[in-house]
Formats: sequence, C-alpha cells, structure tokens
Amino acid sequence: MSPSAPRGRRSASPRPKRGAASLKLSEADSPPPSEADSPPPSEADSPAPAPTEIVIVDPDEPPYETRPRASRGDDVPLLANHELARIFYEIGDMLELQGEMPFKTAAYRRVADSIAHSPTDVASAYRRGAPPALSGVGKAIADKLAELADTGRLRFYERLRRDVPPSLVTLLAVPGLGPRTAGDLWRALGITSLDGLESAARSGDLRSVRGISERTEKKILDGLEQLRKRPPRRMRLGQAAEILERLAILLGGVPGVRDVVPAGSYRRRRETVGDLDLLVETDRGREVIEALHASAAVERVGGHGGRLGQLRTTVQLLRGPQLDVMTMPVGATGTYLVHFTGSAEHNVRLRELARDRGWSLSEHGFTRLDEDGETLAGEGAERRTFATEEEVYDFLGLPFIAPELREDRGEIEAARVGRLPQLVYVSDLQGDCHTHSEWSDGSKPIDVWADAARRRGYAYQVLTDHSHSLTIANGLDPGRVEQQRRIIGELNERFAREEAEGAVPDGAHPDGFRLLHGCEMEIRTDGRLDYDDALLARFDVVVASLHVGRRQPRKQLMDRYLTALRSPHVDIIAHPSGRKIGIRDDLDLDWDAFFRTAAETGTLLEINGSDERLDLDDRRIRAALEAGCRFTVDSDAHYMSEWDNVIWGIGLARRGWLEKRHVANTLPRDEFLALIADKPHRVA
Ligand SMILES: [Zn+2]
Ligand SMILES: [Zn+2]
Repeated sequence: MSPSAPRGRRSASPRPKRGAASLKLSEADSPPPSEADSPPPSEADSPAPAPTEIVIVDPDEPPYETRPRASRGDDVPLLANHELARIFYEIGDMLELQGEMPFKTAAYRRVADSIAHSPTDVASAYRRGAPPALSGVGKAIADKLAELADTGRLRFYERLRRDVPPSLVTLLAVPGLGPRTAGDLWRALGITSLDGLESAARSGDLRSVRGISERTEKKILDGLEQLRKRPPRRMRLGQAAEILERLAILLGGVPGVRDVVPAGSYRRRRETVGDLDLLVETDRGREVIEALHASAAVERVGGHGGRLGQLRTTVQLLRGPQLDVMTMPVGATGTYLVHFTGSAEHNVRLRELARDRGWSLSEHGFTRLDEDGETLAGEGAERRTFATEEEVYDFLGLPFIAPELREDRGEIEAARVGRLPQLVYVSDLQGDCHTHSEWSDGSKPIDVWADAARRRGYAYQVLTDHSHSLTIANGLDPGRVEQQRRIIGELNERFAREEAEGAVPDGAHPDGFRLLHGCEMEIRTDGRLDYDDALLARFDVVVASLHVGRRQPRKQLMDRYLTALRSPHVDIIAHPSGRKIGIRDDLDLDWDAFFRTAAETGTLLEINGSDERLDLDDRRIRAALEAGCRFTVDSDAHYMSEWDNVIWGIGLARRGWLEKRHVANTLPRDEFLALIADKPHRVA
C-alpha cells in the first residue's frame, strides 16, 4: 500500500493543517469501515484472548476442496482476525526460510497486516460467502481464507509447519544471517534457536556445513553480538505510514471521532520511527480506546488512563511497534497536537516562552501562573485552549512552525524575526529525475512508466536506467542507449499528438508531458565515467552515482566524485552519501569540498526519497544549502508503488529548510531543461 499518495496534483496542501499533510488516507486501497462492519463493542479491560493453538492434523487426508459443502460451517469454531493474521505472518516467515522469493513472502505478510486491521470479522464474512475486500488478497490467498473459515484449518500451513519448525524464525533476527543459510543450518545441524546457533558457532560446528566458511561463522557471531546490543528496532517511514493508515481507518470509524492525526517523530518526518503516536479528536474517548483494545491488530494492552477526561492508552501491536493513542477534546486540539508532535527540545523552548508570558503550557492548554510561578487553582484558575496549532503559536507571539522544523535547530529564533523558510511541498514537484524501467533493474516497460507519470500530473519524468558497468543491475551499453532513445522519441511524439488533440489522461499537467532521456551513470572505481563524452552529451539529463568501490579511501572517493561534478555533462549526483539506513554506512567524503564544488559547477544534488536511503540527510541538506547548492527531490522508483517516495524526499527537504526555489524539479519543463543545458557554460 502506498503512503498517503499524492495522486494527480492534489497533494500536500500549502499549509499542513493539523497534520493533514502528514497522513492522508489513500482512497483506493482499503474500504472505509461501514456501520454493519463495525467491531462489536467489548469490555475495555478484558484481557487479550490467548493465541489459539492450531491443531496439526494429517495433511494427507482428503483435501478441503473435495469435501462436501455441508461439512463446511457451523460446527467449526470461527477463527478470529488475530488468529488468521498470525497464521499468515507465520506462512510468510516459513516461506522465507524455505528460500521463497521475497515478493511471495511479502504478499503473505501484507495480507496478515490487512486482516489484523480489518474492521470486518474476516472468517465469518467468508463463511457467509461475502468475502470482504482486503488489500493484497488474490485467488490463492482467498482460497486459503475460505478453507480456514470453513474448516478452521489450512492444509498448506500444516504442511509448512511440518517442513519448517516455527522457532527457526527467531534466527532471522540475526544481522547477516539470511533465510537460506538459516534453512541450511537447520537441515544440516538441526539448529532452531539462537542459543543453538551460538554454541554451534563457538564450537566450530558451523563450518562443517557446506558453504559456511570461517568468515561466515565470524559474521554470525558478530551478528549475535549486535543483536544483543542493538537498540530497539526503528521502522522506515513507509512501514510506519502503512500501519498508521490502517489504524487511522480503524479509529476513524468509531462513532464520535472527528479526526485521527499521527504525531511524534513520524509527523516531523524523522528518518526512522520508533514508537507510533496517534491523536484522536473525540469527546467519546472511551469508545476509541475500547475499539482499539478489541482490535485484532493489538497483541497486548500496555496500560491506559488519563486525566481531565481525556483518555489515552499504550498497546503493543501484533508484529508491530508500540502505539500510544491519546484522545483530544473536540474543538480544543491545538496544544495536544503541539505537545505530542514534539520534538521534546522544541517543546521545552515553547514552555519557556509561555512562562515568560505568565502561562504554563501542557497538552491540555495554557494555565495562568501566579506571581510565584505556580499554576493558579480554584477561583483564580484560568485556562486557555485552542482549536488549532496556528492559534497556539500565535498566543506565543510566533507564526506557525511546520512540524518538520520543530527540532530546536534555530526555528524559534527564525520564527521570532519572521525568517522561517517558505517550505517546499510535494505538490510543487513538476517532474521526477530518477526512475528505472525494466531495461535495467526496474519493473515495467518504458511506456507504462511514462503513462503513470502523466497521470500523476508531472510535466516530465527522467528515465535513468543504469549504465553498462553496473552489470548486476543490467546496465545499458551504448547500443541499448540508442534503442532506448528511439523509443522515448516515439513516445514523446505520441504525447505531443494526443495533447494537440486534447486527448490527455485525467490529471495530466497543463503544459503537457515529456519523457526525458537520462541515465544513472556509474562513476567507476578507476574514477572514469561510464560513458564517453560524446554519448553523455546526447542525454537530456545525466544523473551520476557511485555504487561500487565504496570502501576506497576518502581521497580516491573524492577524486571520483570531483570528476563527475566537474564534467560538463553530469547534471545531478544521486544519493550522494551512498548510505542505506541501518544497513550500510555513509561513504567517507570531504563534504565541504563536495558541496563547494557542487555549488561552483551548478551540479544538482539529489535528495533520494527512498525510505531506505533518504540521502542527502537533513543536516547535510542544510550544510549544502549554506554552501549554495541546489537540489532535486526524486523517487529512484524501480516499482510503480515507489513514485510516492517523493513524499519522504520532500519531508527531508523540509527538514533541511528547503524552499521551492532550491529544488530544481519544481521548475516548469522548459526552465528545468534550460538549467540543465547551461551546465557546460558553468564549468567552462
Ligand atoms: Zn543508485
Ligand atoms: Zn537509481
């Protein structure tokens, strides 16, 4: 499921009103809960039901499909959503251990997610013969759900459980130990636990297994060590968005709920998210808490309480993070939003400002202080609450400060003197400068990409398949580059024709659309560029990047980048630091020299919106901005679902204080192309 998709050009409104820009429900992906589908009311304090043990039966008895229809049904107890979800999560795990393709394992987990968050009782709906629309459910999975609903069992799952012990899944948590190796170790040595793995690694037994070298053994021991020391896992933004969207649908359907707003670091678009926070505007908080506690998405209730009539709760989500839900009184949500959006550092500054003015600030509002700085109680008590964050900031004598800026990195000072940046919006983007088709390592043919870009309302898309030295990504040799150019030329003729005839898709950009021919050109380990100058000069846009030889010393890495920056043909440097969050560190670079040269040569620096990369990061964006650099915000999409990566890229750009004028792909197509065409003059 895509995160709050900016379909067409209807994305991020010019001022994120009460979190509207931080999470919008995607219309197409999940059905809104209807009255009839609402979960039954339940006791708020009832303990979460114990997981049902699935009975393992003989998988060789007659298959479900051949049983008489009459045997399906009423005498079989119905499985609850959380039980169904567990089964599908486990199927995903076990398939992974069997070395199944990632897309397949991901499909089962996605279905588990949608079942866990479904407002409908899935098994009973199936038994009634009216299966609910669940995202990710195709024919094969629908059959499995029907079997589970009718018989309470699933032969496929039982077979898997016989083949793969479920406890083996714990091994997958070890960094550096893939599912294939875990499967091998189990088959060869019967290892199913972390303790078993550790003792086998220490005794040297691991090396008796084919394909396990001393190096692998060391890697596994290091991984176990890391696992012990690792701070609690943080999620990528896209993962957080998926969970939050489902919860927002669930809680948004509870009677009396006016609004559901994600808060915390997600709303501020920090690059990873720990716990999740949701704020719910309602005067019927108890019903919200009850609905959440009754949800199959919740594994455990951590606690709840609250004061001043406002309820809150903390729950552990099934296969997910911890979630805090706070309810806010209708019409007085301003201080709640500020308080729970954070950051803590920003809020400390706001409380100081409030104190200076004789008020104490908490989530509940402002309370008048007496001459000793104590909050006034009883007769003299005075409280101010506000409907919006704008009013809260205004009460403190400040203009509205966007959530992405609330880190106490100078935003209060800037706000006081009216120098806050006019931050860039997703809807400002006119094109995407970094996308991959099936010609290299992306999915889908070129025309499918271009048609999708048109429907998104872009005026241009730069197709940037990899260059030939990146063989693992099926990089293009000069011959394929020429073929691609011809195809792009023909497509653009078609677009021009359709635009002349007025036959354009809904949501198309008023200036029309052109597919631009680009490449993601490798900066090779020997420092040379992957295509010669004559070929580079023929591209509309050249994006350069560095995927190999990442461990070279700083001097060598810098020489490679400086060659690219100074080339008259290289327009954009993609994902400059090369990091993958939690997986791969930054390149060792002299960032000052890098930014200085980028600014001098007018080479654009990419803010890569993939939530695995988020590169440049927010601090480097600010440093580069100060050095005089300009940027692009790109998706680096390989799959259609990744267009929306720009949401995270824009979040990062906003955290780096960027305005529209700093981001080159907010320019209309002509101006963007003119800027690109000007580079040879800038470096001459
Ligand atoms: Zn790349
Ligand atoms: Zn790429």
